[in-house]
Amino acid sequence: MKAKKDIKIEIMAIGSELLTPHFQDTNSLYLTERLNDLGLEVSYKTIVGDEWDNLVLSIKQALSRADIVLAMGGLGPTKDDRTREAFASVLERKLIYNKKLLQKIEERFRRRGLRMPPVNKKQAYIFEDAKALDNKKGTAPGLLMDTGAKIIILLPGPPHELKPMFDTSVWPYLQKLRKKYTARRTLKITGLTESKIETLISDLYPQEPHIQLTILAYPGQIEIHLTAHSEESLEKSKETVHGLEKNFLNRLKENVFSSAGEELEEVVGRLLRLHKNTLAVAESCTGGFLGHRLTNIPGSSDYFLLSMVVYSNEAKIYHLGISEELIEQHGAVSSQVAAAMAVGIREKTHSSLGLAITGIAGPDGGTPEKPVGLVYTALAWDNGTDVVKNLFLGNREIIKYQSTQKSLDMVRRHLLKKPQSKEN
Ligand code: AMP
Ligand code: MG
Repeated sequence: MKAKKDIKIEIMAIGSELLTPHFQDTNSLYLTERLNDLGLEVSYKTIVGDEWDNLVLSIKQALSRADIVLAMGGLGPTKDDRTREAFASVLERKLIYNKKLLQKIEERFRRRGLRMPPVNKKQAYIFEDAKALDNKKGTAPGLLMDTGAKIIILLPGPPHELKPMFDTSVWPYLQKLRKKYTARRTLKITGLTESKIETLISDLYPQEPHIQLTILAYPGQIEIHLTAHSEESLEKSKETVHGLEKNFLNRLKENVFSSAGEELEEVVGRLLRLHKNTLAVAESCTGGFLGHRLTNIPGSSDYFLLSMVVYSNEAKIYHLGISEELIEQHGAVSSQVAAAMAVGIREKTHSSLGLAITGIAGPDGGTPEKPVGLVYTALAWDNGTDVVKNLFLGNREIIKYQSTQKSLDMVRRHLLKKPQSKEN
């Protein structure tokens, strides 16, 4: 298909599960963002089930109104997956068996020590004049066909297969239709409320039409998404977005923990490694969630020593040497006990830093003095301890998440203040 002024694109999400309350079509969001990066807009989105007549009708409709039809799902080996067959029927193309494709599918099974079940053979068929798209993450090959008038692209449904296939095979192909270059940057912030951020940056809001700013607020994290478009070059859009990023960083300073897509636990890990510090954590209401987040980062064994879930009072007393009197006097959810937990886990493991969480995650167990969402987070280091009293809102899951977020941020801010040791 030749580049033209008004290209109409239709995305089709195919699969009966997408018409139930249990599954959402998230793939089309990804594809839309990638297409928008090229300056291409999506005109239609269709969700259709696996039923043959509906599928055929939807494909006919899509081909009648769009120049590019991007369909996903229904390329699997089972009987209900008929996207390939339905497109072939509407386009009046024969499905042709491709030996090389079959070998690739068989090879994939062999690598897992399995033999290919006969049903998978149907994935080795592609229609005349179409190009098969390699699937590095699954068995279903994708398909791309340019009829001269229209481009038809079929992609597998599972997002972890669709995304790499789109990026490596479809994205380069669509470059010839590119209208814009897009650069993005996301500033991730924790420790500031949305309204505080608003007052700090409101005068920096870009007015130009080629720049977009979106603020997304999650519990414990706020993100500023910056997008710049340029009709000239990628460099130009990058330059614009970097300029914006610099202005925002000047205002928001260390409250921004990453502008390179990192998670907070990744940033904390990097700082711990930089300072050659180790970390041990004592968790009560988060039940190991903090340890889980820390170990999500490959290589975390360089700095992360231990996470102990000290849920009961007895566990706090027995494992961390906290005095029974201290718990009796102040309660397990108190700044005194949080501090003693952080000191206790640090001493027990000889770590550079000890981190502790104790709180009431709810929905029960709150009192007027100690409501649900009251969480103490504490950090202990060689010559000091810091305790923060937090009042989080939300359900149990959100309170647990915010507790880990806050305690990770305490480590981050502590290490940011620390001069780097000379030997590094
Ligand atoms: P299929 O290619 O039809 O066998 O799809 C396999 C699986 O991919 C489905 O069960 C879904 O979990 C997932 N999937 C399919 N289509 C989508 C979509 N549009 N968005 C997100 N996930 C999808
Ligand atoms: Mg399906």
